[in-house]
Amino acid sequence: MKKPIRKVLVINSGSSSLKYQLFDMVKGERLAKGLVERIGCGGPKDHTEALKKVVADLGDVAKDVDAIGHRVLHGAEVFKDSVKVDAKVLAKLDKLVKFGPLHMPANIGGIRACQKIFKGVPNVAVFDTAFHQTMPDCAAMYAIDPKYYRKMGIRKYGFHGTSHKFIVAEAAKLLKKPLSKVNLVTCHMGNGSSLAAVRGGQCVDTSMGLTPLAGMVMGTRCGDIDAAAVLSIMEADKLTPAQADTLLNKKSGLLALTGSSDCRDICAKAEKGDKKAELALEMLAYRTALYIGGYNTIVGGADAIVMTGGIGENSSEVRERIVNRLGALGIKLDKKANAVRGKVATISAKGSKIPVVIIPTNEELAIAQDTVKVLGA
Ligand code: AMP
Repeated sequence: MKKPIRKVLVINSGSSSLKYQLFDMVKGERLAKGLVERIGCGGPKDHTEALKKVVADLGDVAKDVDAIGHRVLHGAEVFKDSVKVDAKVLAKLDKLVKFGPLHMPANIGGIRACQKIFKGVPNVAVFDTAFHQTMPDCAAMYAIDPKYYRKMGIRKYGFHGTSHKFIVAEAAKLLKKPLSKVNLVTCHMGNGSSLAAVRGGQCVDTSMGLTPLAGMVMGTRCGDIDAAAVLSIMEADKLTPAQADTLLNKKSGLLALTGSSDCRDICAKAEKGDKKAELALEMLAYRTALYIGGYNTIVGGADAIVMTGGIGENSSEVRERIVNRLGALGIKLDKKANAVRGKVATISAKGSKIPVVIIPTNEELAIAQDTVKVLGA
């Protein structure tokens, strides 16, 4: 009989940090979690060294790891689902570095490090983009010369897929509906934010695009912007593409509007009457409501609006601002219920036409679950 997959290590390997969690999937328990920082800049020299530190930190619990699940940023159109890593998969991943020049080498580095250190233990790649691969062309394509899609793969891919998929499955259970029958608008709102339109349990649209820059107003990303505005700024300030990338990804969004990218600070400032903070929160709420309205139409009427992520799970202030803009959909807030933080709850009033529910996300657990599923199949 095949040995059950019990201990699953989940690795989120970034350019200068490596986050990990270890799960006992039989007991459904997390055994350990941690972070190694400053990889290649003062700390461990590379991901293999970082992983050695993880093994040392874990001590005895690192023994008998049955499988390792890796968060991978981009699967492009090559990977529509999680996959067991072999030489062929690694060769394909190497070809996808162009879709995430910062993240992909780190993600792949994490996998290679695990192959060296956990000899014989299977690795599974779980992609941020995979859940969105069911989007129809009318949602995924950009209205530009199709040669850019053919030659460079320029189209919408979407991100946070692991989180959206996880909360969709949880929402279906909560609503007591089969996954294949559930229509939702899912809102992952954290430092990075994205919404997804889910019809019959499958993603039919999402707010991020070729990269995670599109869509919502985020901590440090501008989200949707007229491409011509970017060209004007580049020309006026003589910015290189790399400088423009930094401006839009790291120095825009809530940070540019208020001086802070942290929603808690901004809510505190707005409470004290700070006009910039007030405008930033209204911009965030406005754009979120705009997408919710659009996606509710696209899914043919949502069974629920689901919120998650640091802001979605915790910020009553932001949730109230969003829900207050959804009156035309017959959605009403239960102010008392909306005080909730970090747990499953319905925050809409009894008479609300569409329930608004909070479901805390757990991307690491979702990666561990997918790892078990892929290896069990
Ligand atoms: P994440 O990227 O999912 O970890 O989310 C980070 C964001 O969640 C930051 O903007 C935080 O300010 C925000 N956040 C976390 N806790 C709270 C809270 N209690 N109230 C408001 N925002 C919060």
